[in-house]
Amino acid sequence: MRIGYGWDSHEFKSGVPLKIGGIELPYDKGLSGHSDGDVLLHALTDALLGAVAAGDIGGYFPPSDPKWKGADSVIFLQEALKQVHRAGYTVGNVDSTLILAEPKIGPHAATIQKRVAGLLGIKPNQVGVKAKTPEGMGTDNAAIAHVAVLLVVAPKARRKPAPRKARKR
Ligand SMILES: [Zn+2]
Repeated sequence: MRIGYGWDSHEFKSGVPLKIGGIELPYDKGLSGHSDGDVLLHALTDALLGAVAAGDIGGYFPPSDPKWKGADSVIFLQEALKQVHRAGYTVGNVDSTLILAEPKIGPHAATIQKRVAGLLGIKPNQVGVKAKTPEGMGTDNAAIAHVAVLLVVAPKARRKPAPRKARKR
């Protein structure tokens, strides 16, 4: 088993869609960032990479590279998942906490949970999605995400039984 942890934050900005957990939420502001600003997928990507000690999101997708401008963060997650599988692991479960003043995540939590589970190839009951407000932390204009993942050793691919041959003597 391996544990991974990731954290991310983005500032709200007018005129861009709000993407959290791979879905678009109805809101008048989105998250600024070089990519689509999906704070949850970025924290999840870092948690997966961290769990297999494979670096961090910035190492794979440098913000200085114009290629990733406005990029769908699903691409980042898929790369991290590839690294997890390459290392011989599979995702056991994920837990996350979002911290933001607005909009309310509660009505969308189940959709986010399903989407993240789908992206990881696991079941919704393996993905925890929690949200809270900053409570006077002075971060009302930002969204913050914390993610923990547990990886388990991937079951070995079933080998085809070797064809029976007369044993050499
Ligand atoms: Zn980010």
